[in-house]
Amino acid sequence: MTDHGADLLIRAAAVHTLVPGQAPQRALAVRGDRVAAVSPDPEGLDHMVSARTTVHDLPGATVLPAFDDTHTHLIHAAFGAHDVPVHRARTIAEFLDLIRRRAASTPEGEWIRTTTNWQELNLAERRMPTAAELDRATDRHPVLVKRGGHNDVVNTYALRLAGITEDTPVPPGGVIGRDADGRLNGRLIDNALGLVERLVPAQDRSRRIDGLRLASGRYAATGIGTVRDCAVTPEDYRVLLAAREAGALHTRVRTLISALGMTGAAQVEDLLDVMEEWRHGSDPGLWVWGVKFGLDGGLEAGATEEPYACDHSYSGTLIWEPDALVEAVEAVVRRGWRVGTHAYGDRAVRVLLDVYERVLARNPGLPAGTLVMEHGGLAGPEQRARAVALGIPVTIQQPLLHDTAEVEEGFWGPERVAALFPARGWLDQDAQVSAGSDFPVGQFGATRSLWGMTTRQTVIGVKGPEHAITYDEALALHTTQAARLLGEEHLRGTLTPGRFADLTVWDRDPADCPSDLLRDLDPTHTFVGGRLVTPVGR
Ligand SMILES: [Zn+2]
Repeated sequence: MTDHGADLLIRAAAVHTLVPGQAPQRALAVRGDRVAAVSPDPEGLDHMVSARTTVHDLPGATVLPAFDDTHTHLIHAAFGAHDVPVHRARTIAEFLDLIRRRAASTPEGEWIRTTTNWQELNLAERRMPTAAELDRATDRHPVLVKRGGHNDVVNTYALRLAGITEDTPVPPGGVIGRDADGRLNGRLIDNALGLVERLVPAQDRSRRIDGLRLASGRYAATGIGTVRDCAVTPEDYRVLLAAREAGALHTRVRTLISALGMTGAAQVEDLLDVMEEWRHGSDPGLWVWGVKFGLDGGLEAGATEEPYACDHSYSGTLIWEPDALVEAVEAVVRRGWRVGTHAYGDRAVRVLLDVYERVLARNPGLPAGTLVMEHGGLAGPEQRARAVALGIPVTIQQPLLHDTAEVEEGFWGPERVAALFPARGWLDQDAQVSAGSDFPVGQFGATRSLWGMTTRQTVIGVKGPEHAITYDEALALHTTQAARLLGEEHLRGTLTPGRFADLTVWDRDPADCPSDLLRDLDPTHTFVGGRLVTPVGR
């Protein structure tokens, strides 16, 4: 006998299914992990209510599919989940106060670390704190203030633990910072980072799982139901499997296993051997999407056609020889995996399309969407047309531009910054585009990205307003188009009976929300596979 009952019934002001042409619905029923039915009548699914049905009667609410973040770094978010959230500080005083409060609840002598996703130019003082200032926050704990991947500031306690004095030799390719009087100021750059970081204890597996629980919960609280984690090592993936087993993942996770740092196909083959055991992932909560390559650097090393604004002899770096990258990408696709390659500057975009064009010519019949461009930051009309002709999807990250616009202007100048992530241009040329955050470089949050793509707002005002897109277009980049990028359009993206019940509930329709409120709007509920993941425990 067939069971027609529902596990969950939501009655709302509007259920936007995102099925093309379908009017807003008023009721949605879930059975197991799938959408069972929708109805234009709020009472239209009442026959499915039984003793086991949880009913949410929300006459003012709006229901949308849960969002995907198609390029983010959950693994980094998890590492940082326990760190002092200095990215929230707007002044150095606030920054120090956050550290001081953490010190008050941390046993003496234990390390205190900060989040890395902040920019000193976004602080009122427009500079990093100094060792002397950190000492005023605590002199009883070693403090590691980390900003991005290249810059640290530490307090005097940490300098002392590391044995760094004014006589310490500076490692080649590194900097040990000094103030105007020549005294240590706590700054460490690049190859000097290890002097202190080697002392910070690594997180054990249970702490990492705990970090994933917190971090995935934070994504879910903003309305994100699926993350595409774009650089995961095999060891990270094992931790994710353990976290999933422990019920600690509040979002679905799709991973790109990292080939970053590799320079030849032989190394990639070894990685692919390790990946074999994950090939037939059947758990819809976690699986491997493919392999990640990096062709150029980020903010300070993206490969450009024209020299940098700050240094006319420099135009960024390409990490791969094109011939070697063709071979490495082929090794991946011949084993049936997909490839996402980081290309940020316009030269990297052009060279990546050259590489992909050769791979496609030599491997006819590759499934659509096998080769993806991550970022495609600077992509003019000509390269966009090539990507479209070759069938190469692109993932863009407006939140990254928002947070780094001022820093990036220093490297690239205002014109190139205004041209970054040209969403309007991509859509007008019929490209397959989806959207993400690139956290920890940009902040994650479903509506934050919608706000950014519809307004082109950054920390230094509107940049490239001609590349703004509409709310409905932006919504699609995080739902229907994102599911397509992930090869899951038959499973997710619209609220269609038979598809996963990944949905968000909002107490006002984000579509009608003034843009300055849209930025920080969070859903009241996020469901993944019919399970309430946020608010947790309700
Ligand atoms: Zn990234």
